[in-house]
Amino acid sequence: MTSPPVPRRVALISVHTSPLAQPGTGDAGGMNVYVWQTATRLAQRGIEVEIFTRATSSSDAPIVSAAPGVTVRNVVAGPFEGLDKRDLPAQLCAFTAGVLRAEAMHKPGYYDLIHSHYWLSGQVGWLARDRWGVPLVHTAHTLAAVKNASLAKGDTAEPMLRVIGEQQVVDEADRMVVNTDTEATELVSMYNADRARIDVVNPGADLDTYAPGSRSAARAELGLDPDETVLTFVGRIQPLKAPDVLLAAAAPIIRRARMTGRRVRVLVVGGPSGTGLDQPTALIDLADELGIGDAVSFLPPQPAGRLAQVYRASDLVTVPSYSESFGLVAIEAQACGTPVVAADVGGLSVAVADGKSGLLVDGHDVEDWTAAIDGLLATPDRLVDMRRHARPHAEQFSWEHTSTELLASYSAAMQSFAARNPGSIGAASARRSARRWRRVRSKM
Ligand code: UDP
Repeated sequence: MTSPPVPRRVALISVHTSPLAQPGTGDAGGMNVYVWQTATRLAQRGIEVEIFTRATSSSDAPIVSAAPGVTVRNVVAGPFEGLDKRDLPAQLCAFTAGVLRAEAMHKPGYYDLIHSHYWLSGQVGWLARDRWGVPLVHTAHTLAAVKNASLAKGDTAEPMLRVIGEQQVVDEADRMVVNTDTEATELVSMYNADRARIDVVNPGADLDTYAPGSRSAARAELGLDPDETVLTFVGRIQPLKAPDVLLAAAAPIIRRARMTGRRVRVLVVGGPSGTGLDQPTALIDLADELGIGDAVSFLPPQPAGRLAQVYRASDLVTVPSYSESFGLVAIEAQACGTPVVAADVGGLSVAVADGKSGLLVDGHDVEDWTAAIDGLLATPDRLVDMRRHARPHAEQFSWEHTSTELLASYSAAMQSFAARNPGSIGAASARRSARRWRRVRSKM
């Protein structure tokens, strides 16, 4: 039996957001976490990972050794600060030039494979793939056509420029990695993708950081009242994520609790995204308009350790998004033993075990959301049961598993690329890597 080819070094492209940025505000979210978690785990398996991202500060060093086996290359492309994500397509040429120059410093075949994240990176990876003669694996993370089909109220549709750009990447990539079967189906039906070239790989959670712990200790650390009921939203504050739905749904629950001397608090963790503002002013105003301003707390984006305390401190975590290709927050909360009430969209229907580790709500009707949250709070036994099921459900999703599946996708991409391009650098590196694999095996 021939051994599967394994890349020795991967060029991972993440144009619009750096894995070193704090997630939970601006353009930094689940993709940053995904890139960082999979890069470090691939590196632990002996695969060198070089991440190309756009420099967003004059103080960014061009090359950063971020972790053993993981290098971040900050490519200068356009102004460091203040460049809106919508203006990034105009910087792709400069960015690609930076990527090609970095590779040109080495002998041909320096990278065995390219993995691009989000369509902007896919455009860069497409050109690099053709120049370097190695396979391109692409992960879209979100798809414009899917987002446009379920827009939040007041949200603007993704432009045709992105839809066309995504289509080109889908057509060009050697393999596509998607989060769920639903996303695979969407890629086939909306982008006419070849199902045989799609690998479904669930993202994960860092199950060591996100683990159950003392709720009272978490509340004490966060300065939360030990006796309040806490309903939490975590993520980038933008219409697509619908934190306003949580506020509106919680308002009658908070008002009713007040009448009986109980207290319910909404905790919103994260920063604005897409507004350029420092504060989520519209959401703060909405809380006041609903008469619950004093029962809503806002926390700026939190690092993972503190975020785990947020999940532990919460009675329920809600994810009311209009679309979500997976929803890492839902898995992280359950990994901490906290049930999740989520919209029944995209990957959330995989991330939450409906009726077991949480609830899935159809649509965004505020009354339905109030009923779902209220119904759970009114049945403590059910909540206890869900807390029990939350962690085991989350344990199915680990970054180790994600990385194993990614490696399988890389092998398949290298194999099919070598078969289609027998004289290419990629074919030579697939042959070399199979020999390396055999050597590694013989030492085991
Ligand atoms: N996050 C964080 N700190 C915060 C808020 C969010 O580290 O204050 C992280 C969170 O842990 C999760 C990611 O941001 O891993 C958000 O991912 P998700 O898939 O839920 O949403 P996305 O940002 O991809 O739309």
